Amino acid sequence: MNNASATASPQWGMVVDLERCIGCHACSVACKVENAVSLGFFRTKVYYYDYAATNPFNRQPTTKRAFLPTLCMQCTDAPCLDACPTDAITRAADGIVHINVDVCDRSRDCIKACPYGAIHIDPVSQVADKCDFCAHRLEADMAPACVEVCPAGVFAFGDLKDPASPVSVFNAKHGTQVKAMKAQEKTRPRVQYRGLGTAVPLAMEKKVPTGRPHDPMSYETDTWDQLKAAFSPAPASTPHPTTPRKG
Ligand code: SF4
Ligand code: SF4
Repeated sequence: MNNASATASPQWGMVVDLERCIGCHACSVACKVENAVSLGFFRTKVYYYDYAATNPFNRQPTTKRAFLPTLCMQCTDAPCLDACPTDAITRAADGIVHINVDVCDRSRDCIKACPYGAIHIDPVSQVADKCDFCAHRLEADMAPACVEVCPAGVFAFGDLKDPASPVSVFNAKHGTQVKAMKAQEKTRPRVQYRGLGTAVPLAMEKKVPTGRPHDPMSYETDTWDQLKAAFSPAPASTPHPTTPRKG
């Protein structure tokens, strides 16, 4: 039940190149506009992560900020699909995982099963909602809205069977650096990443929620507390270099 049948249809896939992301949120905003995603909910969300680093010029502590765009991973072994009690979630021959809103019973079992925070209950329609690679745009020979709008060329998208598609060209060049987010979940996602563990600290994966939707408040500042130790004031006995000495 969890394997797409072999057909002549395209096999859509994506690589997110974290080495290029500038954290501008254009993808998540375009997604909201294209798919009328309700306020406070996301089909595409960009996470920020601040972490301590060393300034390469003066060797002093400094901070760096990493960015992690997320969306439905279109898992080949999709826990949401297996968890749905009404079979409202299905995978099309092209690999896209869809929610049939007419069959959704709002049980939230899919939300609890998803390791990537990719599903939410829309507060207007009151049924489950998530990214479907902008399937309506693909039918019109258009790229997903996030791919179209990204100013940094982060998303390599296309037919995995077509060696000339952007995703295949990217994989041919950088395939050894490409991997799944939360690989331990073994969902065989169609969305893969370059730069997890290099351009972006692996710890950032923990910001992407498991079993619940994205938190609208979890953007930039929630890692600052973890940085306090790196920037705590020097002990009182150590005079500041600019403090004038008495006598
Ligand atoms: S990312 Fe979540 S919603 Fe998308 S296919 Fe995988 S389990 Fe389902
Ligand atoms: S639009 Fe591109 S550069 Fe901007 S946050 Fe999204 S992926 Fe990153």
